[in-house]
Amino acid sequence: MQNRWNDQDAARHTTDLALRVYTSRLLGQDTTLVLHGGGNTSVKVAETNLVGEEEEILYVKGSGWDLETIEEAGFAPVRMAHLLKLAQLKRLTDPQMVNELKTNMTQAAAPAPSVETILHASLPYKYVDHTHADAVVTITNSQNGLARIQEIYGEDMVIIPYVMPGFDLAQLCAKHFAADVTEKTMGMILMNHGIFSFGETAKASYDRMIELVGRAEDYLKTHDAWRLPTPKATATDKPLRGEISQLRQAISATAGVPMLLSCDMSPTCLAFAQRDDIATLSQQGPATPDHVIRTKRLPLLGRNVERYTIAYRRYFEEHAGQAEDKKAMLDPAPRMVLDPELGLCSIGRRAKDTTIINDIYRHTQEIIQRATLLGGYQALPASDIFDVEYWDLEQAKLRKGSKPAQFSGEVALVTGAASGIGKACVEALLERGAAVVGLDIDRDIEQLYQRPDFLGLTCDVADETAVIQALESAVRRFGGLDMLILNAGIFPAGCRIGELPTAQWRKVININLDSNLILMRECYPLLKLAPASGRVVIIGSKNVPAPGPGAAAYSASKAALNQLARVAALEWGSDGIRINSLHPDAVFDTALWTDEVLQSRATHYNLTIKEYKRKNIMQVEICSHDVAHLAAEMCGSLFAKTTAAQIPVDGGNDRVI
Ligand code: ZN
Repeated sequence: MQNRWNDQDAARHTTDLALRVYTSRLLGQDTTLVLHGGGNTSVKVAETNLVGEEEEILYVKGSGWDLETIEEAGFAPVRMAHLLKLAQLKRLTDPQMVNELKTNMTQAAAPAPSVETILHASLPYKYVDHTHADAVVTITNSQNGLARIQEIYGEDMVIIPYVMPGFDLAQLCAKHFAADVTEKTMGMILMNHGIFSFGETAKASYDRMIELVGRAEDYLKTHDAWRLPTPKATATDKPLRGEISQLRQAISATAGVPMLLSCDMSPTCLAFAQRDDIATLSQQGPATPDHVIRTKRLPLLGRNVERYTIAYRRYFEEHAGQAEDKKAMLDPAPRMVLDPELGLCSIGRRAKDTTIINDIYRHTQEIIQRATLLGGYQALPASDIFDVEYWDLEQAKLRKGSKPAQFSGEVALVTGAASGIGKACVEALLERGAAVVGLDIDRDIEQLYQRPDFLGLTCDVADETAVIQALESAVRRFGGLDMLILNAGIFPAGCRIGELPTAQWRKVININLDSNLILMRECYPLLKLAPASGRVVIIGSKNVPAPGPGAAAYSASKAALNQLARVAALEWGSDGIRINSLHPDAVFDTALWTDEVLQSRATHYNLTIKEYKRKNIMQVEICSHDVAHLAAEMCGSLFAKTTAAQIPVDGGNDRVI
């Protein structure tokens, strides 16, 4: 266990609270100690209030903050005197506790204090650190866990049997602590939950945490329960996109709303899912109460391999800010599937949720396997798990639920996504809550956005094998395809038919037409499985209704694409798939139009650039975002009953009207 304390860095933090931030971040940097909002820390500080009275204030981690990135503003300042009185009560319901904590802060705008606040207050030490350290949980959740903990820590730790976090746990800890504390006491072990350390300085408390968790790690090492079997499994090359999309459709149907599904086929996940004893191992419940809540075994889709599912009911707003919509939270759909071929599949309404589930379960896998090496994994009894599910606090969080984004749980694919209209479409779809896959021949696409709901893939849409590979990657990442925006295309320099080289004609037809046929054909089986019906939007051109001289290949390719879309509308309508076209004109904020080109075109018409840009009936400028927002809207419910529509985005053109 690495001790990350650094004297030089620490010296930059001069106040008690600043040091609290510093060591909290050190804890947060180690994912084997703290993962996604798990763990909390506090410091007790004497302050003088506005009317000149001295008060003792407990600064405790506020909800919505992660230890790794916490700042001073992430700590909620609560009056100690009141907390100590609360600790003396016989009973305090969770909603009452939440109310008392919030109404006894010294800053109205501070975040809600952690549910473990009263526990922090009742420990008589200046600094208190709490984590759900993997090594400690591995031991508390193994056969003879209690005896092993006693063997490792002897009198150094006060040991608390499992109780759900909240007021009862705070009281139980206070009671045990008062009875068992000795001069040697360095901390507390909470069975099936985690560990507390404390000290008079930030460093003392942090050092103890590292030392105490290190002892648990050493115990696992000396008992041959540390090294995990080397995974030999590798991800299959065979196409899985059809099967994954089917699985996602089945899960979304159970949930009643579209869900994302992300497959992790890394060797460690595949090796775990392929274990002979996976049926037993995966069904034993969560590592700690804030991880997994209910387990269930479901055969899905009649595959010869049974899938083991774990229903996650943990609500992610601790980490992600706002509650998801209530319906999705209360649905019976699994949040995780283990499959020998698909590996660890995490399921959620947002890409961020699937990432969190993946992180949590990757740690859980290690905990389960090490505890198994130690003689057997033993999770919380089912009754405790049930309690958490109906926990007042969780219910309270649910009631705050915000409205989900328009395309929550859905996946869109955009071609030509690195710039111009394509990039604007990616942004419009992300804004509406979709997970987006962007394809482009330009490698920049891969780095376009660093966020869990975007996957950028370098892909030449004219290369059939590359397109199929990209779809396979997209589905493995997000679970399927709901919306397809066909935007990629080229517009070669003007050339009259009399001089048009065959090679140029073929190139334009190949990219603007043939590649879209391949994309539509390959996406069709995926769109058919879209939980809320498939949608296709074609970025056409004004040249379809009003072709231009010198643009034969371009106009012909776009007109043929338009006809292709109309046939698709006829063929796919009964599958619920709708396909609509946009015909933009004179969109100048794209890579095609440099200032130079614009100037020369404007001069040609004897206009200023500004006049040239507004050379339409309404005299308005058309931007990529105008086209993109209309494209996104056409995937939404306003157009739910419209297919084969062709809509101009051109400010009005007298040749079209
Ligand atoms: Zn905890």
